[in-house]
Amino acid sequence: MMPFFLKCTQQFMSKRSENALTILTYHRVAPEGQITYLPALSTEAFARQLGWIKRYYQVLTLAEAGRLAAEERLPKHAAVITVDDGYDDCFHYIFPLLKQHGLSATFFITTAGLTHGQLWEEQIAEAIIDAPVNCHQLTLNATDYSVNTFAKRLRLAKTMIDKLKYLTVEQREQQLASLRQATGVMHNSRQFLQPEQIRQMAEAGMEFGAHSVHHPILMLEQDAVAEQEIRSSKLELEQLLQQEVVSFAYPNGQYGRDFDDHHIDMVKRAGFRYAVSTVPGSNTDIDSQAFCLHRVSPWPTSQSRFMLSLLRSTQRDAGGTNGY
Ligand SMILES: [Zn+2]
Repeated sequence: MMPFFLKCTQQFMSKRSENALTILTYHRVAPEGQITYLPALSTEAFARQLGWIKRYYQVLTLAEAGRLAAEERLPKHAAVITVDDGYDDCFHYIFPLLKQHGLSATFFITTAGLTHGQLWEEQIAEAIIDAPVNCHQLTLNATDYSVNTFAKRLRLAKTMIDKLKYLTVEQREQQLASLRQATGVMHNSRQFLQPEQIRQMAEAGMEFGAHSVHHPILMLEQDAVAEQEIRSSKLELEQLLQQEVVSFAYPNGQYGRDFDDHHIDMVKRAGFRYAVSTVPGSNTDIDSQAFCLHRVSPWPTSQSRFMLSLLRSTQRDAGGTNGY
């Protein structure tokens, strides 16, 4: 029998999501025990969440939801599953599970990964973790760090990623170059989606949206750089897919801190029709919210907590975010 608490949550949830579009955010998904530098949800937990999502929502891609909303035909309890960045776990773990559940999703791709095989966080992490075993200490920006164990290297990688997140793309590149000089690690391992995988997923009904070229914090960049980041990612994906790309995800995604109205205008000018933030909340008027849609990050792993987290974060002005 269903616990009373869960039943109440479901009923309340049901009322709240009836006429709103709920957009869920995911990033990395990996089998238990596989090391990823960004936090990853286990494939088992992701599969469980898909089962719950399927039970309560009508899942659409963002483009489909936008089109149906414009025609005033958005189904009740509509939801979009979004996956940010474009690592190859999208193809190896997320895509097969979506297919298994008969669901679709919208994948936002940071296009530099298509060329480099990984994004800046992974490049930083790899340059530290793959340093030669006889490298016991690293001096970075006049600070000494002990790197004589794997755990210390992993910790330093996380520290450096947090430190470099709020730098411009150019400053980050400089930091990566000095780090590589210090450790001698010049390679990039391939961890990103390949063009052929993207085409295969698109043919199976998955939507692809743009997520900039280098994942900059748009607020930190010169206008010309920000505009280029937005436009080039769209063009590159359109060339790859041979179809129009209508959706964009702001890197990091917090309105007022990572992007503002100025960038919303750039996204409109580039020809996108929808753009998502990482500001929690639900979307009750898709027309007026189209370029700053709210998203929620469902991390908890029990059904009642999962439902409760969605319930809390679909309320406007709810605290907490998980933007990458
Ligand atoms: Zn991202």
